[in-house]
Amino acid sequence: MIREDIPLSQSGLEILFTPGDIEAAVGRLASEIKRDYLDKNPVFVGVLKGCFVFMADLVRILDMPLETEFISLSSYGPGRTESRGKVEVVQGLRKPVRGRHVVVVEDMMDTGITVDFALRYLRRRRPASVRLCVLFDKPARRRVDVRVDYLGLTVPDRFVVGYGLDFDERFRYLAGLYCLKEDG
Ligand code: 5GP
Ligand code: MG
Repeated sequence: MIREDIPLSQSGLEILFTPGDIEAAVGRLASEIKRDYLDKNPVFVGVLKGCFVFMADLVRILDMPLETEFISLSSYGPGRTESRGKVEVVQGLRKPVRGRHVVVVEDMMDTGITVDFALRYLRRRRPASVRLCVLFDKPARRRVDVRVDYLGLTVPDRFVVGYGLDFDERFRYLAGLYCLKEDG
């Protein structure tokens, strides 16, 4: 049972990364990306919904010329904590990325099916280059071998929420990353 009307420590959530841990990881990713893209005016393509907090923090730390676009992909149904293994485009790209340098921004990589789909989707649009930036990596259940160019933090094989990630649309607003307690 997850309760939102009581302190987080008693709520069925366990802290995994504090806001400070995440800030440090995002800062490191930003300096790696800045080194590679400073004069390239890249297009950052965020994978909604989960990426919105990460994307917002990342671009503000980067503080360099870039553009932001979003695609909305869905791999989980409501209330689910496991990927269905099938990805749907809820909303596609609105602008062409042909000839542009694209950085795919994803909050979480689990089986890898979603990012693999996103990369294929973008490559079909003939960009000059495509790289992948993932904040949270859960390698335990990988089913597709995807190369991550910029990797933030590795998480254990647990369902996590916060920093943009939800459980049935809840908890996206939490500044840290939490896992659902196993008995919770
Ligand atoms: P994949 O296709 O790699 O299995 O899953 C990727 C997507 O599933 C991510 O974009 C993320 O939205 C969601 N996801 C994977 N693991 C978790 C998790 O532990 N918590 C939440 N909230 N979403 C997850
Ligand atoms: Mg996501």
